[in-house]
Amino acid sequence: MENRLKKVIIYGSGVIGGLSSLCLERNGFDVCHVTSEIKKDQDRTYALSPGSVNWLKTCGFRDKFFETLYPIKKIEISREDATSTFTSDSVFEPALAYMCSEKNLMKEITSKIQSRRIKTYSEPKELKLKNSNDHVLIKLDDKNISASILMACDGANSTIKEHLNIKKKVKNFNQIALVFNFKVSKNILSNAKQYFLQDSILALLPISTKTFSVVWSCDQSLFEKLKEKDDINFIIELKKIVGNDYGKILNISKRNSFPLSMVVNNKFYDQRIVLMGNAAHAIHPLAGQGLNLGIRDIVDFEKCFKSYPYADIGLEGFLRRFERSRRIDTFEFITLTSGLQWIFSRKSKFINKVLIKGIKFLETRDNIKNFLIKKAIS
Ligand SMILES: Cc1cc2nc3c(=O)[nH]c(=O)nc-3n(C[C@H](O)[C@H](O)[C@H](O)COP(=O)(O)OP(=O)(O)OC[C@H]3O[C@@H](n4cnc5c(N)ncnc54)[C@H](O)[C@@H]3O)c2cc1C
Repeated sequence: MENRLKKVIIYGSGVIGGLSSLCLERNGFDVCHVTSEIKKDQDRTYALSPGSVNWLKTCGFRDKFFETLYPIKKIEISREDATSTFTSDSVFEPALAYMCSEKNLMKEITSKIQSRRIKTYSEPKELKLKNSNDHVLIKLDDKNISASILMACDGANSTIKEHLNIKKKVKNFNQIALVFNFKVSKNILSNAKQYFLQDSILALLPISTKTFSVVWSCDQSLFEKLKEKDDINFIIELKKIVGNDYGKILNISKRNSFPLSMVVNNKFYDQRIVLMGNAAHAIHPLAGQGLNLGIRDIVDFEKCFKSYPYADIGLEGFLRRFERSRRIDTFEFITLTSGLQWIFSRKSKFINKVLIKGIKFLETRDNIKNFLIKKAIS
């Protein structure tokens, strides 16, 4: 006989939706995974923290996947003539982060989902939900599913959230992230670089010995200027920033763009629906932490039901415990990323001087740098 208390609905076909399904299935839940069509031409590159990679290792993905991850061992941040360097050696870790292709990760997740007892359904044409104290019910096009809990993993613009009694605050950064790759003629080893400029933040993240994955968060006017440029003129603009540090810049890939905003909610759950990943918190990508934060949502959810084995994980008592476990981590990264974005985009000469002094000071303080590294690698 079907046990509704063991039944869970996962809604969303991104990384967080897939990983949530795998996590709950391995803990004995009867998982119904509602997915939308995945854009096949899309591939994004993420910097995964060592903590996230360690947790992914518990998901039984193939060694071949982990071999594709490219380690970052050193990150240099700079503003004008001030630089500060963070290295994995200083905290005795093999890497500060690992660069990962979303396509490769989704391939592993999809193949694991297919090999497990996870039922998948297509998203309904129109979303109809009943969320009560007793159960949650979703109406799909040809079936109704009733469960103890629904995990909304449908991203920052979550349609599920629109049906809930959850207030969200959206902050538009008035910035657009240009995302692309390029090759260079010099060996870049495992070194990343982040330039905090007056009108943008340029992050160069190595994905092989001679290729960078780039996230260039630009203000509106710079974006408009760059958008018009052909590859040759675009390279000239890049060279103005990076100089000759990497030799020749070659093979610029297609440039994709993402408008940047932050979405913060007043709570993580409403009755029996809980928000996970970007549906729960979308942050600025300058610290490369959005997906890592989402993975930690799943890690903490799993820890919560291992520590407090509720027969019904849709009960308010359990969801409150989970929410409490996520409050500090989420708050810290929301504050850090929006604070850094704010201060580095000020046009004031005084603030600029303070920032330059601050970066120079940071370079002399190993204890502060190591504290920041330990936060980022968790
Ligand atoms: C430029 C940029 C660079 C970034 N770099 C990093 C990085 O280096 N490291 C890092 O940790 N994070 C990074 N992030 C953040 C990261 O991309 C997000 O945090 C992460 O993608 C969130 O995953 P998610 O599964 O919660 O949401 P999403 O990736 O948005 O996935 C949501 C999924 O739900 C699906 N969906 C939507 N509606 C429905 C529906 N009706 N039914 C079913 N499914 C639905 C969508 O199709 C989508 O597949 C970056 C973000 C940006 C913009």
